[in-house]
Amino acid sequence: MFTFGGEAPFLTVVVPCYNEEKVIHETTRRLAGVLDRLVQEQLIAPESKVLYVDDGSKDETWTLIDELSRTHPFVRGLKLARNVGHQNALLAGLTAAGACSDCVISIDADLQDDVTAIRSFLYKFHEGFDVVYGVRESRSTDSFFKRNTALGFYRMMKLLGVNIMYNHADYRLLSHRALSALLEYKEVNLFLRGIVPLVGYRSAVVRYDRHERYAGESKYNLRKMLSFAFQGITSFSITPIRMVTAGGFIIFVLSFLAALYSLFVHLRGQTTSGWTSLILSIWFIGGVQLMSLGLLGEYIGKIYMEVKGRPLYNIEINQLLEERKADADR
Ligand code: UDP
Ligand code: MG
Repeated sequence: MFTFGGEAPFLTVVVPCYNEEKVIHETTRRLAGVLDRLVQEQLIAPESKVLYVDDGSKDETWTLIDELSRTHPFVRGLKLARNVGHQNALLAGLTAAGACSDCVISIDADLQDDVTAIRSFLYKFHEGFDVVYGVRESRSTDSFFKRNTALGFYRMMKLLGVNIMYNHADYRLLSHRALSALLEYKEVNLFLRGIVPLVGYRSAVVRYDRHERYAGESKYNLRKMLSFAFQGITSFSITPIRMVTAGGFIIFVLSFLAALYSLFVHLRGQTTSGWTSLILSIWFIGGVQLMSLGLLGEYIGKIYMEVKGRPLYNIEINQLLEERKADADR
């Protein structure tokens, strides 16, 4: 199925979906438009596919995907046994697609990312880039709150020495070899945005405008967003632990000075009532200790999850694989 070099490359567009019944049809229509043109321009092979990954949706998403796979030759579905979250669903799709694609593009189902940018991705791929990052030109459709928390997150990651692309979500193209390299990173605490730059290879950036969600609701509420950011930070940097150690050291030095001072005061016979300072320091040290313990616990928890090495997802139906088997039988 691979075309490598010679003919037009086999592209698979991987689309994770969780309760997206309202958008699937429109997404398919628009992706079809883009893919048709790309095939005409011979930028991609005519057999190229869109792979919808149903992440354990509770609505009619899978039924729709299944129907579309019968009526649209380029649509295929991958059904996960239960909801495992965006990052894991994406990984499931990339892994399934990786076996038969010269390049893959990951995109959200909700049409927030401009599908017409796919063409520019392909141009970059043909120029020889292995990784193409879609970077949001404007975030005007995001709320003030989301824009600023996102900005804070990118700044923090940079400060901690983690290399991630500014304003890039999971809209990107990966060549076959970049994807294979990516799949070698066997982390349970998955943060794809952080891992892709580690893979290396030549990368390019394509800028696009981010739109409103076409229909339905965002699945990332404040709690999920914060947990995603925290996950990103603690999976990629041990600087927070070092900061705790440094903080502890500074407090230790300060308390030593304070001890010297109180001894000095005591020897001069000036008894201080001391209650205020005592209470303050107990609370302060107590707070610092609890916070440090919590942070250490977070990393230990991560180690625990990694050590268990549980599978990140279970596949119920893989239409790509079924098709390949059927082809082989023929
Ligand atoms: N998604 C998923 N599993 C989940 C949550 C979300 O596969 O548990 C998908 C969702 O269907 C969408 C993409 O991940 O295609 C991004 O989610 P969403 O648009 O809700 O996030 P936002 O754009 O608001 O950050
Ligand atoms: Mg969205």
